[in-house]
Amino acid sequence: MLIDTHVHLNDPRFDPDRDEVIARAAGCLAAVVEIADSPREWDRAIALSRKHPGFIWCTLGLHPYHAAEWRPELARSLEEKSSAAEVVAVGEIGLDYAKCEVPKPVQMEAFKGMARAAQGVGLPVVVHCRDAYGDLVPALRELYEGLPRSRRFHGVVHCFSGSAQEARACVGLGFALGADGPVTYPKNGPLREALVGAGLGALVLETDSPWLPPQSKRGKRCEPADVAEAARAMAAAFGVGEDELARATSRNARELYGLPPAGQGLSSGG
Ligand SMILES: [Zn+2]
Ligand SMILES: [Zn+2]
Repeated sequence: MLIDTHVHLNDPRFDPDRDEVIARAAGCLAAVVEIADSPREWDRAIALSRKHPGFIWCTLGLHPYHAAEWRPELARSLEEKSSAAEVVAVGEIGLDYAKCEVPKPVQMEAFKGMARAAQGVGLPVVVHCRDAYGDLVPALRELYEGLPRSRRFHGVVHCFSGSAQEARACVGLGFALGADGPVTYPKNGPLREALVGAGLGALVLETDSPWLPPQSKRGKRCEPADVAEAARAMAAAFGVGEDELARATSRNARELYGLPPAGQGLSSGG
């Protein structure tokens, strides 16, 4: 059973049929992780998880688009909210130099502030990075190099889009790499090769629903059930069976977020 490690089910594009989308996901996936991009969405993410206990988990973040909202008081709010059992990480946080209008230094300050807050509460981070790997890798080094790991991963670089060298650098610093819709695009051979080079032990699957549709849905909304298409593309790229890829990526996802073993709910997860 696959795990979709990165979704935005509270996005308004799911307003017309959210329950059906979740039902389709529950029919074919073991778990999904709802990502809250700004403090305004934190309570809604927790509420969505509570509605689907043991299936939907959530993270509390400050996307680079919202980085100007960073205040040290947010760390205290995070400390309070992250004690909920449904909250499994801090994110997404990170750097976006592609379309984001927030100045780079403001993004960097928010990213480091949130990452340190995550360290303070003992949670992994979900990192967003677009066109910013040159600044991200040194920042991760500053934040995480030499830091003892309570788990196999300090976090995940979601929707990984860097080079083979950047992939290995992130993995070397204790990060998993997220593969989603773009790994199914025919032109993205170099991206698949970078992920293969980083190894199956670092790979997790995601959809970033509703945003990054796989090849068969280009231009349309995507949903968690579509994660199977990224799984097939990565199984082919690694030259392994789909079962083996599912087992490895789901195990990585459970270790990343500290999810309970398959078939067990919240009570055993703590
Ligand atoms: Zn993102
Ligand atoms: Zn996202």
